[in-house]
Amino acid sequence: MKRIGIFGSTGSIGKQALEVIAENRDTFSATILTAHSNHDLLIEQALLFQPALVVIVDEAKYGAVREVLEPKGIKVLAGEAALEEAAATDLYDMMMAAIVGFAGLRPTLAGIRTGKQIALANKETLVVAGDIVMKEAAKNNVSVIPVDSEHSAIFQCLVGESDSEVEKIILTASGGPFLGRKPNFLVNVKREHALQHPNWNMGAKITIDSSTLMNKGLEMIEAKWLFNLHASQIQVVIHPQSIIHSMVQFVDGSIKAQMGLPDMKLPIQFAMGYPGRIANAFPRYDFTRSAQLNFEPPDIRTFRNLALSIEALEKGGNLPCVMNAANEIAVYGFLKNRIGFLDMTEVIEQAMNKISFIEKPTLEEYFESDAEARNFAASLIRI
Ligand code: NAD
Ligand code: MG
Repeated sequence: MKRIGIFGSTGSIGKQALEVIAENRDTFSATILTAHSNHDLLIEQALLFQPALVVIVDEAKYGAVREVLEPKGIKVLAGEAALEEAAATDLYDMMMAAIVGFAGLRPTLAGIRTGKQIALANKETLVVAGDIVMKEAAKNNVSVIPVDSEHSAIFQCLVGESDSEVEKIILTASGGPFLGRKPNFLVNVKREHALQHPNWNMGAKITIDSSTLMNKGLEMIEAKWLFNLHASQIQVVIHPQSIIHSMVQFVDGSIKAQMGLPDMKLPIQFAMGYPGRIANAFPRYDFTRSAQLNFEPPDIRTFRNLALSIEALEKGGNLPCVMNAANEIAVYGFLKNRIGFLDMTEVIEQAMNKISFIEKPTLEEYFESDAEARNFAASLIRI
């Protein structure tokens, strides 16, 4: 029995991880659940899965959660620091790191430092401090198994290839809901449009990131750290059907692709079950019934967040951290209807120009850069 600690259990990835556990009760149990503020769902999940411990970050909800769960023998902690406390316990074997944004960094690091296996959905952790996170993982003999579908695809293509040299990886991107659109259209886009992704049903932040192509930019940086690549080895190609989840090209020119219908439960299940595969009854992709698979280069002049990401990827240091922080604020501002779709890029670019560059930041300096960039971005959009 593998005991899974689901950090961010009330989110899109967290809920799907619980579905996988429910379908494989003999293989997995959920022993830690955490939520930011959705205490009703957290309580419901805890009653169903009987974890040893739950964390509710929003302290105002502590009493309500404790009242229901403590009589059932479930320990309840509250507050942000409790996430790290939970991550440092021996109550679980593998962390499903499914918190969104920078907030996932500290708990994930705490899990790594206690030697837990990490199933990583929270890409921002690697974008912000990938050098430190991967070093800590190596030091503690921890494998970081990607949950992000593209990285799971690459990981799967690399199984059995430890003696092969990678020439490059090809990250596929659906292109999001605004594929083919130009700035004169994007300037008027409202949150309701941007929240509608053609192929994937995800949390709000990553859905907006997919519509701006920032998600693909974050994924390029995530890939750099996961697979130890140079910027020049990471290519993005638009593939609107999201059937090929990504590819690896080896030094002999041979290309391996991982394919399947777009369903996050697959990479979630793969990460939880690795090194084995778990049988399931999910719908299958049928080559005889499907239309074409198409590919085209990304339009980085229109979707400038991707160009900014490439700059951050190439320059490194604290620049990806600054970009990520400004993006989190910009997305928040857009979701609150404070700024327009194209303004998000302006906010990010200005923050990247404004915050002092640090070539080899310490963890503390990453936290400082994050805070500075957030404050600066917030001042631009007056939140
Ligand atoms: P979501 O918004 O649906 O859920 C986020 C979870 O994190 C919730 O449980 C929430 O309570 C918790 N949370 C939010 N803010 C928090 C904070 N400040 N402190 C502690 N907990 C907090 O997000 P999601 O779509 O499930 O995405 C989670 C992560 O997985 C993101 O990093 C995202 O990029 C990545 N990811 C998601 C998908 C997807 O299909 N949803 C695909 C690939 C990667
Ligand atoms: Mg992805």
